[in-house]
Amino acid sequence: MTGKSGYSRRDFFKGASVLAGAAALGGVGTSTAGAAVAAKAAIPRRKLGKTDLELPAVSIGTGADNSDLNVIKYAISQGMNFVHTSTGYKKGVAIKNVGEAIKGQRDKLTLALKITWAPDDDAALDAAFETLGVDNVDIAFFNIHKASQVSDPKFRKGAERWIKMGKFRYIGLTSHKETAACLSAALDQGFYNALMPAYNISMEEEFLPIFERAEKEGVGVVLMKSGRGLNGDAYYDAVPQYLATTGITTINKGYGSFRDVQKQIEAAGQPADAEIGKRVREAAAVAMTGHCQMCGICDQVCPRGLPVADVVRCSDYYMEHALYVGTAFQTYEELKDRPQTAICGDCDLCERACPNGVPVMHHIRRAETTLA
Ligand code: SF4
Ligand code: SF4
Repeated sequence: MTGKSGYSRRDFFKGASVLAGAAALGGVGTSTAGAAVAAKAAIPRRKLGKTDLELPAVSIGTGADNSDLNVIKYAISQGMNFVHTSTGYKKGVAIKNVGEAIKGQRDKLTLALKITWAPDDDAALDAAFETLGVDNVDIAFFNIHKASQVSDPKFRKGAERWIKMGKFRYIGLTSHKETAACLSAALDQGFYNALMPAYNISMEEEFLPIFERAEKEGVGVVLMKSGRGLNGDAYYDAVPQYLATTGITTINKGYGSFRDVQKQIEAAGQPADAEIGKRVREAAAVAMTGHCQMCGICDQVCPRGLPVADVVRCSDYYMEHALYVGTAFQTYEELKDRPQTAICGDCDLCERACPNGVPVMHHIRRAETTLA
């Protein structure tokens, strides 16, 4: 895979030796003292599409259960100065942590916020800003999971109005369901500056043409949930492969410790390697066999209109990852139409329609018995 994102490989090697020493310091705690001890490494930086935002190639997401305040502060101190958050993450704790972490350094940061409310709800936007302690963010991401909704003119109207009001400068779309279709639909709209898909390397074949189109059209791509199907060192081996993929601007991710931050930065400093890339892709493909890729087809075939893919997401997508178990409970609680036995007809259509061989019925039952 050839990177065309315009960053220099020479940048990658800056600070690599420093990190080798720094890595030994991390992972043993999350005290601010540790942040002062570890040396700062250079993270490659990339322009986000046609915007004037220059982002670190690895950045801070706050969706995982472990988005600890001191780890966020530490990651910022190490050069990860792009932070994305949402009012929903960790039941509001994540955005409060971000607000605390960025105090006094707003001008050094690029902030992104997920918009989970109607695109004319000023009160919700202002409440999020108040929690963050800011008057605006740099980029907002509409949270859309149905491709048919992407073309709703209310999103463009809302984005243009808020940009005019100075609430944010750029607009993006984030999606974790019907993801490829939502991204393509967003590109069709022509006004989005960035896309933030839930994506892992096993999905490359389907997504690469979309990323190539995004790059051609000057739309940046921010990856989230890139660790699925990649455990331990396999994930860090995948980081350079992700960063060498056409169109990718940054990997946005939550970190559980200082060591995780350091390993991520170190991985971003490595060049992509064809042999390692082949191994990682094969491992991810095997690991993701039978696991949900959030295509949303099961939703479309359910005769009772149940949010099947979201239920599977809670059971498979989150519960398989220790860092997202809390998110599984929270998300499941928020689902309005849980497929309790009374409303799920056990027709099996969802499972039969799944292109990835996901044992959908098993996940429905597991979610109902474990998460309800
Ligand atoms: S369970 Fe299967 S059909 Fe449903 S969203 Fe996941 S991959 Fe798609
Ligand atoms: S088994 Fe239940 S969730 Fe699946 S399609 Fe049938 S009614 Fe919907």
